[in-house]
Amino acid sequence: MNADTFNALRVPVNLPWKQALTVMDDTAQGVLLAVDARGRLVRTITDGDLRRAVLGDVAADQTLADLPGREPLVADENATPAELQQRMNALGILHVPVVDAAGRPIDLVSARELASRIWLSSPHLGEEESAFVEEAFRTNWIAPLGPHVDGFERELAAHVGIGHAAAVTSGTAAIHLGLILLDVKPGDTVFCSSLTFVGSANPMLYCGAKPVFIDSEPATWNMSPAALERAFEWAKAQGRLPKAVIIVNLYGQSADMDALLPICARYGVPVLEDAAESLGASYKGRPSGTFGRVGIFSFNGNKIITTSGGGMLVADDPALMARARKLSTQAREPAPHYEHVEIGFNYRMSNVLAGIGRGQLKVLAQRVDQRRRVFEIYREALVDHADLQWMPEPAGYRSTRWLTCFTLEGADGPAGRDRLLRALERHAIEARPVWKPMHLQPLFEGAPYFAHAPGEDVSARLFARGVCLPSGSNLTDAEIARVIDHLRRLLPQSVASHAVS
Ligand SMILES: *Cc1c(COP(=O)(O)O)cnc(C)c1O
Repeated sequence: MNADTFNALRVPVNLPWKQALTVMDDTAQGVLLAVDARGRLVRTITDGDLRRAVLGDVAADQTLADLPGREPLVADENATPAELQQRMNALGILHVPVVDAAGRPIDLVSARELASRIWLSSPHLGEEESAFVEEAFRTNWIAPLGPHVDGFERELAAHVGIGHAAAVTSGTAAIHLGLILLDVKPGDTVFCSSLTFVGSANPMLYCGAKPVFIDSEPATWNMSPAALERAFEWAKAQGRLPKAVIIVNLYGQSADMDALLPICARYGVPVLEDAAESLGASYKGRPSGTFGRVGIFSFNGNKIITTSGGGMLVADDPALMARARKLSTQAREPAPHYEHVEIGFNYRMSNVLAGIGRGQLKVLAQRVDQRRRVFEIYREALVDHADLQWMPEPAGYRSTRWLTCFTLEGADGPAGRDRLLRALERHAIEARPVWKPMHLQPLFEGAPYFAHAPGEDVSARLFARGVCLPSGSNLTDAEIARVIDHLRRLLPQSVASHAVS
């Protein structure tokens, strides 16, 4: 429901009921909100109330206030969809008005929208996954490893143009193995982007390493070259260079590799590229995930393609990848019996899940196009909202737009963002704040942090003002339109629309 419709639903309670019939027909929501002279909600009028008035032969000059009815059921701004649903079910009603502290209606939630939640990013299967999985069943390759694992690794490596790939149980497992391959040991330092999902950072702790977090830059929302440079100068002065730098590609967009990689190279420190969110993206024509000594992808259920859960480690160095495969299968030595000299892990992807991955890989390019289209629809629909700044995509970058993100600018940005998220949630629309940076997480309290510029904490600002919108490749146009209608109603009015009204 858009702002105009919502405004039209508010009718004076002293309106003759026959006139209310016309408004009910025009607005077509099945409900009207009858308000007093001060705009406070007096009662809700349903289709049924007016139908009964017609049948009951109520005089034409009677007003809405004269119709039989009861106190309206209302909710406040903090009501959750579950609470609203429960109350609608209990009372057998289809709408709940939301009122402000003075009792004025500010929103209306319908049972219909609560019954069809819109997800942030849900799995989207293609046509061929089930055939691959059935083949695994038919050939009894249900055991871990098998031809689909080999096939998925080969096909993914070919797709991104890298020498080798090792399929594992998750993106997090891939990062853990990657850090071990880069010889990260207890007490070592590792640099990592601060603005990311905790899956990027937890493996540093698995290794007993000491994390140092690096801020984002405004142009890409990814690792700030200026902050990285200062972190290296600091590390050098301490006489303790990091063993690795984890560079994250946020929300489907590459970091500025031409600026970041030479800094790491100058200090001789290898890069682990966390491309969990950027499979299918490119940077200056080169596929994302292929820039570090090792790279990783994730096939978690919410990612651009999924195996329900899974990850991939990639590298050009065959020796590195052979070691990854060994470590991920309990680090067994070549011997007829089970011989072990180092710590191993049970991290290999199963053959069944790799079958899903092979099917998903076939539709990857399509999924990227679909997510980019979702972004474009949002952007075009909200182009007149000047306070809303989309995550930039600089020239030479091609993001997957895994999630469509924006920040709410202006003095009221952070508070407005929180109100917006609450309101979307009330309408069963899953939107989220931008990742909470690692340097602000209690888990990493005390870890050194290098801001983009002294006194300019870019990732903290993005967290305070950023919103991720529903972005799945399987969103229908009607679902996107529903999100947009709410956004247009909830966002601060732009200069342009003030001029019109
Ligand atoms: C999802 C994600 C991970 C972890 O991947 P899982 O497969 O969920 O373990 C790591 N880093 C980033 C940036 C992610 O988005």
